[in-house]
Amino acid sequence: MSGAFISFQDATKDYGSVRVVENLNLDIARGEFVSLLGPSGSGKTTLLMMLAGFESVSGGTITLDGKVINDLPTYKRDMGVVFQNYALFPHMTVARNVAFPLEMRGEAKAVTAAKVKKALDMVQLGQLADRLPGQLSGGQQQRVALARALVFEPRVVLMDEPLGALDKQLREQMQLDIRELHHRLGLTVIFVTHDQDEALTMSDRIAIFNHGKIQQCAAPREVYDHPANRFVAEFIGETNLLDCKVSENAGETFSVTLDDGSVVAAHGLPGLVAGDRALLSLRPERIEILPAETDATATGQNRLAGEILDTIYQGDHLRVVIETAVGQIIARTDRKAQEWPVRARVMLTFRAADGWVIAP
Ligand code: ADP
Ligand code: MG
Repeated sequence: MSGAFISFQDATKDYGSVRVVENLNLDIARGEFVSLLGPSGSGKTTLLMMLAGFESVSGGTITLDGKVINDLPTYKRDMGVVFQNYALFPHMTVARNVAFPLEMRGEAKAVTAAKVKKALDMVQLGQLADRLPGQLSGGQQQRVALARALVFEPRVVLMDEPLGALDKQLREQMQLDIRELHHRLGLTVIFVTHDQDEALTMSDRIAIFNHGKIQQCAAPREVYDHPANRFVAEFIGETNLLDCKVSENAGETFSVTLDDGSVVAAHGLPGLVAGDRALLSLRPERIEILPAETDATATGQNRLAGEILDTIYQGDHLRVVIETAVGQIIARTDRKAQEWPVRARVMLTFRAADGWVIAP
């Protein structure tokens, strides 16, 4: 029995003959902020709704604070839910919308009024208590939904793509607001998103979904630097994936042979052994571009010869496309870095710790 606050053990969901969540195991600690990140249709909403009690569990167990809650009615789970489309009551004022969960619980009028005021102040909507949802902007409606999910001081807050409908600037502001609320109130939050930047910004840990399974669940830095497989490497951030063969694996440090015969040192997943086919993942910003004639001993790093194909100005950085003997490679350089002319012959270098070897 795990000591986790929320625990999924082999949780499974079938719709008819289709399995949309498959033997999923995930432990969440009290006060943790965990994002569920993955492409559309990967089972994120379904898992959240199983936890909230809006969807039944086909197999396995879900526990909250050590007790199995598979069959516990929704209202007894004490979870605040923010749905993707806000789901506010259009004919009720902001204050009545926020009061609703308290009225459902039979809270006294005076207590309700005080809690509603506090919740609205928390999301900075105290001034708009008497408006109808239709008289608010998208961001304000979203904050009402947040106040309604928090007003009854739930143990857990579940949010399903709560910022999906907002424009970029407002979305980024709300990300910081939710982060701050999470810290200040010590909430346990499970947050669904398909936006990797949002997940990286908000989370203590990110659970990356594909086809109803968690591909990896770890801190943002870990999933970015040490992806567990190809799906994660490609889903989070941008990466170059080079075919290679493991020549040697001494613990964390690998020596791999690329398809042009060159040998590079990199870190990688345990479990791969000499002779295995593999992929070397190289993040664009970890690659340094040097003049072709740079002395090998001056770098002491992995080296790949190449030729500049294109340089694209992206505002805060330059995106450089380089042709090499092992295919095209994308690098990212500082916007103030030297701009390489097309066809310039260059030497790409990267440290062993910045290359990551995964199974193909
Ligand atoms: P996500 O939130 O990651 O986009 P969902 O959890 O909504 O994914 O859906 C996962 C899969 O389950 C999808 O293939 C979807 O079509 C299917 N699905 C979701 N709800 C139902 C339902 N009520 N009946 C049948 N299939 C469903
Ligand atoms: Mg969804």
